[in-house]
Amino acid sequence: MGRSEVLMERAQKVIPGGVNSPVRAYSSVGMTPRFIQRADGPYIYDADGNKYIDYICSWGPMILGHNNEIVREAVIRACENGMSFGAPTELEVQIAELITESIPHIEMVRMVNSGTEAVMSAIRAARGYTGRDKIIKFSGCYHGHSDGLLVDAGSGLMTAGVPGSAGVPAGCTKDTLTAVYNDLSSVSALFDANPEQIAAVIVEPVAANMGVVLPKDTFLSDLRKLCDKEGAVLIFDEVITGFRLAFGGAAEYYGVTPDLVTYGKIIGGGMPVGAYGGKKEIMEMVAPVGTVYQAGTLSGNPIAMTAGLAQLTILHDDPQIYAELERKGSRLYTEMAALADTYSRPLTVNHVGSLGCGFFTDRTIENYEDAKTSDTAAFAEYFKYMLNHGIHLAPSQFEAMFLSAVHTDELIDETLTQFEGYLQQA
Ligand SMILES: *Cc1c(COP(=O)(O)O)cnc(C)c1O
Repeated sequence: MGRSEVLMERAQKVIPGGVNSPVRAYSSVGMTPRFIQRADGPYIYDADGNKYIDYICSWGPMILGHNNEIVREAVIRACENGMSFGAPTELEVQIAELITESIPHIEMVRMVNSGTEAVMSAIRAARGYTGRDKIIKFSGCYHGHSDGLLVDAGSGLMTAGVPGSAGVPAGCTKDTLTAVYNDLSSVSALFDANPEQIAAVIVEPVAANMGVVLPKDTFLSDLRKLCDKEGAVLIFDEVITGFRLAFGGAAEYYGVTPDLVTYGKIIGGGMPVGAYGGKKEIMEMVAPVGTVYQAGTLSGNPIAMTAGLAQLTILHDDPQIYAELERKGSRLYTEMAALADTYSRPLTVNHVGSLGCGFFTDRTIENYEDAKTSDTAAFAEYFKYMLNHGIHLAPSQFEAMFLSAVHTDELIDETLTQFEGYLQQA
């Protein structure tokens, strides 16, 4: 038995399923997860002594690659000043200034500890601001694991094969209405059926928790217009896309301005951080200025802010990073699609910038129903082959591949070579 197997046996006795977040368990690919010992640059190393090119990148945060020297050194120095104060620091002002000065639609921002918390809080602010209770989300979009949002919520739930979650009282989801991604008429219909009751529309501007699904044509700008007409708050959940597609996220990339934005993942530089921000008049609803209560003992933690600020500063100061991610992403994903074509294997590759996903199907993937038609057994075979050949992918058909700034063209070549090897033997 390998070291990972031994660790998994121990873990399963004391941690539910052996993991602290379900999708790490490899259940949808029928394998034992690799226990990770360390990571450096584009590589991740498991407890069995194997080295992989990592396309999970901690599910997005490590956009500069693992163990970035500048971020690491900043964190080590910050630790010497104490780990947490529960009182304001200059660091919190600095990161908020960096974000608000470089992203025009973020006038104010509040730090929290995860993407889940960011979304929960943004929705509360939108409800407080509008005095309305209902929200619209899209099936297949994931917005964290808070009660009200575990409805048709994408990846982790899809691969676990549960349609929602036990333990969520019906009362908690009764105000969550679900529309079809890329289908504006499904949104209008909900507005028509619930006049002046919709507080907010929340959307992943690029859906990246049902594989990767791009917004079609004018989908995002149409949502903007509809929310304006109906007096609803438009929330972009940029927990994945924020600071990834561009510094200003999908809002900047597609040129559509939301009222509120939620962040997570990249914003913490690998530390547990989330944030929500946007229009001043909505953000000023939040306590202690306003009447929407939201708090956090460790929110704005100095070590987490140091990591986040260091990573964001690098991303902000070097626009070349985004240009290169765009070029390398386009190359990797286009060439994967071309290879599948050469070997006459059904594969629909959706991609934007550094995000991509190969769906094992011939079908065009524009929403959750489309994504669900993928051949997950074929995905599992592909996953296993790639892992055994040194490529670390997310263990689910319904997750994105994440490229980092340190994935070189040589590593992309190596990845494509292994992918071709998979196609040859499949
Ligand atoms: C990961 C994710 C979340 C939840 O963030 P956590 O930090 O895991 O709580 C919310 N929304 C989107 C779009 C995500 O990808």
